[in-house]
Amino acid sequence: MNSAQRDACPHCGWPDRAEPFQVVSRHGTAAGHTVWTRCACGSLQVRAVDASGMRVLSRGGRG
Ligand SMILES: [Zn+2]
Repeated sequence: MNSAQRDACPHCGWPDRAEPFQVVSRHGTAAGHTVWTRCACGSLQVRAVDASGMRVLSRGGRG
């Protein structure tokens, strides 16, 4: 397990590894797919999901 990662939303602390509050849209890519999610606090995230797992590419501001 990669428990060294402690990525979470800087606005509300929602853990990145948890289920996203809301999935806004999903786009297929060559490697897997990109998922836009909205956090419980309103912050928009772009996540890349591929064979090696999920990582947050960018995080928007609140609201
Ligand atoms: Zn948040």
